[in-house]
Amino acid sequence: MANATIPGYPRIGKNRELKKALEGYWSGKIGADELLTAAEDVRRAGWEAQAGAGLDLMPVNDFSLYDQVLDTTALVGNVPERYGWSGYVVDLDTYFAMARGRTGENDIAAMEMTKWFDTNYHYIVPEFHSGSTFSLATTKPFDEFREAHAAGAMAKPVLLGPITYLLLGKSQDEGFDRLSLLDRLLPVYAEVISNLAEHGAECIQIDEPILVQDLANGTLDALKKAYATLAEASGNATLIVQTYFDQVGDAYETLVNLPVDGIGLDFARGPENLELIAQHGFPQDKELVAGVVDGRNIWVNDLTRSFDTLEKLAGTIDPDRITVSTSCSLLHTPYDVDNEPDLDDEVKSWLAFAEQKLNEVVVLAKGLTQGRDAVADELASNRELLEGASQSERRHNPAVRNRLANLPDDVVERGQPAAERAKVQRERLNLPKLPTTTIGSFPQTGDVRAMRRKFEKGSISGEDYDEFIKAQIRQVIAHQEELGIDVLVHGEPERNDMVQYFGEQLEGFAFTRNGWVQSYGSRYVRPPVIFGDVSRPEPMTVKWAEYAQSLSDKPVKGMLTGPVTILNWSFARDDQPRSETCRQIALAMRDEVADLDAAGIRMIQIDEAALREGLPLRRDDWQGYLDWAVECFRITAAGSRPETQVHTHMCYSEFNDIFPAISALDADVISIENARSGLELLKAFKEQGYDKGIGPGVYDIHSPRIPPAEEIAENLRATLTVLDVDQVWVNPDCGLKTRRPEESTAALTNMVAAAKQVRESRESPTR
Ligand code: GLN
Ligand code: ZN
Repeated sequence: MANATIPGYPRIGKNRELKKALEGYWSGKIGADELLTAAEDVRRAGWEAQAGAGLDLMPVNDFSLYDQVLDTTALVGNVPERYGWSGYVVDLDTYFAMARGRTGENDIAAMEMTKWFDTNYHYIVPEFHSGSTFSLATTKPFDEFREAHAAGAMAKPVLLGPITYLLLGKSQDEGFDRLSLLDRLLPVYAEVISNLAEHGAECIQIDEPILVQDLANGTLDALKKAYATLAEASGNATLIVQTYFDQVGDAYETLVNLPVDGIGLDFARGPENLELIAQHGFPQDKELVAGVVDGRNIWVNDLTRSFDTLEKLAGTIDPDRITVSTSCSLLHTPYDVDNEPDLDDEVKSWLAFAEQKLNEVVVLAKGLTQGRDAVADELASNRELLEGASQSERRHNPAVRNRLANLPDDVVERGQPAAERAKVQRERLNLPKLPTTTIGSFPQTGDVRAMRRKFEKGSISGEDYDEFIKAQIRQVIAHQEELGIDVLVHGEPERNDMVQYFGEQLEGFAFTRNGWVQSYGSRYVRPPVIFGDVSRPEPMTVKWAEYAQSLSDKPVKGMLTGPVTILNWSFARDDQPRSETCRQIALAMRDEVADLDAAGIRMIQIDEAALREGLPLRRDDWQGYLDWAVECFRITAAGSRPETQVHTHMCYSEFNDIFPAISALDADVISIENARSGLELLKAFKEQGYDKGIGPGVYDIHSPRIPPAEEIAENLRATLTVLDVDQVWVNPDCGLKTRRPEESTAALTNMVAAAKQVRESRESPTR
């Protein structure tokens, strides 16, 4: 019998119950009991939804109070020493201290956080060193298994696998191979697995998503060793090794020959997995968990296409051995489309969130067991829906299509080479050496947000709101003049979010009311939905930019979010390549650039905060992505004339492996995060022959600390030992939105003083 399952379910609560409970607990409003009860309710509701939809096997221990990687750290007792853990059971206080740090007397920083593969979810990075030891330190998987059992579910405990856990971590010791800790880690995993089997778990899922990445030598041997041990520990339980987010490539043969009972593969993001099976076969004695329903998007699945995939698989693998599944945990999708009162009915009919995806999995499993005819009605109505969608006017804008089909070759060109542009820009702008600037936003105070809410609710008029924003802009401009900053910004008071602000003004975007997905801990985001061709009905930022510029003789930067970032932080349509959607956004943003330019704005910054995080998981796929990402940025930037200076900003510092792409963006100035990276990065810019403007962030805006002027000046002098004085800009490493006004004022004062100091000491070097 074909089964229906999923690798994981959303866990924040349909109405964000977990967020409320967590924040209540952290602020001391509720106790641990109440928090844990709320968590239990969220889990139970998830199982009820899954059982109600007809899933045969439901994940347990996919829940987390904060993060599943941190849960693993707690499970195996890998608590960093500085948290002063007693070494017995990891209690809530220790757990949240690792996640969020502690304030007050025993003040200690949180562990580092980073992105989970190529998703927008963030996990807490495990720490290892050569002396790391492990011991079973929580009962979470057993408790949740018991709980699920009592709720009547056929429960499948889920664990993050040992290889992925080790490889996702970091170590301070240089040259230390984390996989060398496997021998110490495996006994704990074996204990957990045998314990679960003894408690009656019939099937255990172990996630090894690391297998979809390029693997270092030795990883596959470690994998074999690990699963020999774990298989032995599993007793009567079947073990499934689950992968997701891409194909498994070279790991395929080792993976399918592990001494386990089943393998989970992603056929949505890794259609190549199908070829791997056709080419190398699939062991007769194993089960395949076939991830045919995309677990990361929000679109109704093409059931016929998934069914075709399943039939192809059934040509090699006995259908009784195929379990139908989503491609990955549904953690990355919102709960329920029916919870979206604001969406227009047509667009809504195209969407499938977690609850809807459960039904899709169940229908496909039924078809696989009983034959296509048994689900003929479902397939037919799904066909009809998708055909309707593909012909819908909401989806297609002939003008956009036409424009894209007839793009001139020079649409990506600025009209003059960078060196010549620099000359005309220098004359036009007349800036001092080491010009000071900021990244765009100024602190957003409570009254700005309150005003925006009032405006959205209609309790103040558009005119009053505009007046309020204008007053904010006047303040920010005056403030910067007072500080003595050379290149000003308007401060972005009108923006809720750097992507949403543009999405709301572009055609082809929709916004959900309850479409929350976890970003990290209790932080959830509601990504915009790009459902149709993107166009710009009218200018989006020109009014504010013009107003801001009218208040000062100094240049005020126009401020835009780049096309790649808008795409990467949205749910993009899946009926055309992402590159195509990105080109449409690029053209819309290009028109905005041209309008800013025509309005006399002399500098335009196009932020690409998410360009790097869109890199595919496998290196082989990088160039393809970078090619169209760079092309899209250039389409946008080339809306400006050569004498207009284009800036870009990226809030990260890992450029080494994408230098050619950064250079190919052809931006006149790039500001980057460098406050924590030092000179190495700047040397790399130098070595790559990067001769355009660079603003290496001179202080870290993510911390409340105020850097002394002397310290900034010293950094600046060090920078000038590597980079040419004519190319260096002085700026913080990101927008100031999240800082308190006092903090940003103090830090900027020091920044301007430092720039002045360094300028003067260069002019009279004998002093
Ligand atoms: N211009 C934006 C700001 O200053 C950039 C934000 C970002 O890079 N994340 O807020
Ligand atoms: Zn930034």
